[in-house]
Amino acid sequence: MEALDPNKDLLDEVEEKSGKRALCIFAHPDDLEFTCGGTVAMMSSRGWTIDILVATSGNKGTKDPTVTAQQLAGEREEETRAAATIMGANEPRFLGFPDGMLSSDDRLRELLVLEIRKLRPELVITWDGFRSGFNHRDHRVTGISSYDAIYPAADDHLFHPDQKLQGLKPFRPSAMLLAGTDVPDYHVDIKDHMETKIAALLAHVSQMGGRDAKSLRKMFADRLAAAEKNDVADSLPPLRESFKKVILRR
Ligand SMILES: [Zn+2]
Repeated sequence: MEALDPNKDLLDEVEEKSGKRALCIFAHPDDLEFTCGGTVAMMSSRGWTIDILVATSGNKGTKDPTVTAQQLAGEREEETRAAATIMGANEPRFLGFPDGMLSSDDRLRELLVLEIRKLRPELVITWDGFRSGFNHRDHRVTGISSYDAIYPAADDHLFHPDQKLQGLKPFRPSAMLLAGTDVPDYHVDIKDHMETKIAALLAHVSQMGGRDAKSLRKMFADRLAAAEKNDVADSLPPLRESFKKVILRR
């Protein structure tokens, strides 16, 4: 496999040298849409095949005292399926861990290794589990476990050798994009896909608390304005999603 050139655009490089297959691994049903819904919509429009894994079904996070965790999980899985269709991704899959209870243990890593060996994504998009400061535990655990699953486990046949019985072979993706990072070095212009991102977010009806497309547009504009006070924004696209890139094929 040809090495990726770190000086060229990461998505172009992966497309050209590896292929257009991505796997997004997130903790909760709407994490992807908030952090990279525009990027996923853009990649889909460029012909990428995009799979989505959600570690929990978001069975907490409601102010409605009458709803049960199971009802909420069912509702949120439905919303996530609708959002994936809007963004042009494949039907999402849920690992079924309880919300707020993820642990970076061998069980979670084994499940992630299994999916990586099955789906063989050239690009993995997940949380930056190494972000400093305030971060949700499930986000941190998802990011770190995804990293650990990719290296060294998924690419070493001596990790989880029982998966060979399913005909699965070792695999290493070409690159990762880490979302929610405090040290971004890769920015995707989502100007042409902002409305798709907003539509995908609005599919998460149970989480929107009455917000509409207009209020979401304003929320993203305000966040960007706040971020731009602190960084060198002149050369960056005004409507963007930002990541830390990790090249795994050098
Ligand atoms: Zn989350």
